[in-house]
Amino acid sequence: MTAHILDGKALAAALRADLAQRAAKLPYRAGLAVVLVGEEAASAVYVRNKARAADAIGVTAWTIRLPAGTTEAALLAEIARLNGDPDVDGILVQLPLPPQIRPEAVIGAIDPTKDVDGFHPLNVGRLHSGAPGLVPCTPLGVMKLLAHAGTALRGARAVVLGRSAIVGKPVAELLLRADATVTLAHSRTRDLAAECRRAEVIIAAVGRAELVRGDWVANDAVVIDVGINRRADGSLVGDVAFDECVDHAGAITPVPGGVGPMTIACLLENTLAAAAARRDQKSIQRPLRSQSP
Ligand code: NAD
Repeated sequence: MTAHILDGKALAAALRADLAQRAAKLPYRAGLAVVLVGEEAASAVYVRNKARAADAIGVTAWTIRLPAGTTEAALLAEIARLNGDPDVDGILVQLPLPPQIRPEAVIGAIDPTKDVDGFHPLNVGRLHSGAPGLVPCTPLGVMKLLAHAGTALRGARAVVLGRSAIVGKPVAELLLRADATVTLAHSRTRDLAAECRRAEVIIAAVGRAELVRGDWVANDAVVIDVGINRRADGSLVGDVAFDECVDHAGAITPVPGGVGPMTIACLLENTLAAAAARRDQKSIQRPLRSQSP
């Protein structure tokens, strides 16, 4: 049987439409500040897409462009200004930063209530201790795709490939909260293929083109492909050999058009959540169940 192809583009569009309705009902206009240091082409595209998406749902977006030679002190001063601006609900600093700036210093300087990327140590700690907080956007998007696929996670064997702080680790934590039995695999994992074959759910976030082959994927497994890799001809390909899996997986995301669009939609959701939490002085509530023992 052919896999259910999880259309992240359509799901993200539905989420954005819902967020636009929510934004329209607010007594204020939520605001997102996106900071770009330097002129890296890919980063400039990401920043433009984020600002456009915010604008389209009725969230004010400010793009702050700083030269590549910006000092860490100057960037920290800009962050402090945004932290203190009551119109700014979300602050996102596009990574990577130039070498003279320590990303951890910048991320740590963002007001945690405005940290819509969910990278601040306080939000990371909240996620891993099960407390409410802002959760990184790509992992949130992965969970929404799984929910959309109707994947039963309780007790399911899930394998996450990749242990980055941005994707792999937070995805593993969210799966654990959903009561999956999680294996977090990485570059030193022995026999990755065998780990995958056992899994009912595979999340690939490695950054290696088509690493996951068709015979690594069990019949009916749900496969979420976070990877974005550029082929020599300029086309994009995921971490999973889609064509080899589509005939027997239960569900699978395409690349592009899977996780990518969900990431931006979840950024907007985080911005509205941050706005509501700060402006209404409520703690940030996430529609996540607390973990069972
Ligand atoms: P990263 O480079 O920080 O981490 C990659 C991880 O993969 C590491 O933990 C490493 O241990 C593991 N790894 C490397 N080679 C491996 C191998 N051969 N076998 C098993 N594990 C291996 O990358 P990241 O930031 O987590 O991103 C991963 C991929 O996801 C990239 O392709 C990136 O472009 C993509 N990405 C997509 C989105 C999106 O919105 N769709 C967002 C973030 C990242």
